[in-house]
Amino acid sequence: MANDDSEFLMISGLKHFQFCRRRWALVHIEQLWEENALTLEGHFMHERVHDDSFTEARGSVLLSRGMPVRSQELKITGVCDMVELYKDENGVPIQGRDGRWRLYPVEYKLGQPDIQGADALQLCAQAMCLEEMFVTNIPEAALYYGKVKRRQCVLLTEELRQKVKDSVMEMQQLMLKGRTPKAKMGKACKSCSLVDICQPKLAKQVSASEYIHRAFHEEDEV
Ligand code: SF4
Repeated sequence: MANDDSEFLMISGLKHFQFCRRRWALVHIEQLWEENALTLEGHFMHERVHDDSFTEARGSVLLSRGMPVRSQELKITGVCDMVELYKDENGVPIQGRDGRWRLYPVEYKLGQPDIQGADALQLCAQAMCLEEMFVTNIPEAALYYGKVKRRQCVLLTEELRQKVKDSVMEMQQLMLKGRTPKAKMGKACKSCSLVDICQPKLAKQVSASEYIHRAFHEEDEV
């Protein structure tokens, strides 16, 4: 079952996971989703980037939009907003193109650079997939922030790579157990689209499935 897609986690989930572990679990384990203005705007921006899923040449640079990526080793999958390919004799061969090419992933984001580092984590995971797929090294990538129209370079350090591995491992364990972490009221809740479903103000939080299980169990006891 090594290629069973259900075993693979979505790379985009890393951002939720960094934002709040419970939020990731509500979306990816319990399959709940609620749009708010921030997530909607985010989708529109991504649709614009993924719109034309093709490779185009701009000068000596090739641009590949919406490239699907996956790592068999990490069991993660996703889509790169953009992969820039630069001619480089130390790069890798690309099907249908002469010469060798260096890969440089770029992820497009709405708003300001994030201080939690979740965007860099997601970008690094994409780069790790590309490295495995193309058997190459990608030391650097970039994030582009729409609101401030700024491109920010991200060094893909060992520390960042380890954080990706640790987060993915933790997500896989939660997924395997089907466990949703309890709510912790914090600053993130203010912009969380799942606040009404999550109800972080309630003292004792349980997952939807736990709630149903408990309700039935209590009925049995009566
Ligand atoms: S409302 Fe708060 S605790 Fe609940 S999922 Fe969102 S960020 Fe996490």
